[in-house]
Amino acid sequence: MPEETTLSPALFLDRDGVINVDTNFLYKIEDVKWIEGIFSLATTATRLGYKMVVVTNQSGVARGHFTAEDVETLMDWMVAEFAAREVPLTAYYYCPFHPGHGDERYRREHEDRKPSPGMLLRGAREHALDLSQSVMIGDRCTDIGAANNGGLRQAFLIAGTETGPCSGSYIPVDKLAEVEQWLIANTPAQ
Ligand SMILES: [Mg+2]
Repeated sequence: MPEETTLSPALFLDRDGVINVDTNFLYKIEDVKWIEGIFSLATTATRLGYKMVVVTNQSGVARGHFTAEDVETLMDWMVAEFAAREVPLTAYYYCPFHPGHGDERYRREHEDRKPSPGMLLRGAREHALDLSQSVMIGDRCTDIGAANNGGLRQAFLIAGTETGPCSGSYIPVDKLAEVEQWLIANTPAQ
């Protein structure tokens, strides 16, 4: 008999506008400004048993603003910053594609590009995640779409980026601390 695998809930985090201030095609480490409350949220999520996974559209690669290597350099640095605070990121995924920009490598629709749930599904496969118990935080309707399309338990939309409501199911919040409180109140004991 195959060994039974215990699946973990995940906290999926969009990057720009959730972890760091969205400064429009950010790729330099020195330009990173953390969003208020991100490490407190990460500490609570880790304590409650969530694996944290970053899922970020980076069409700046297709658009030629920076390279895939630039994205990975920044993300590897970010992984180290979280690890240094003892709130490790389990994985990060980024989507460099865009249907309307770039050369043949990057100009295409792609299952990873949010609102498609490709990155969430890969995370689930590669890190034994239970999507039905997982949560997503984003600042765009595409994040909400990916969360809904991936069958996540709950999505949160941080205020300030979208000018109107998104379609689909989500809870609007002003601060990451509200998500942290929700996790404390709504996560079943392990
Ligand atoms: Mg964002």
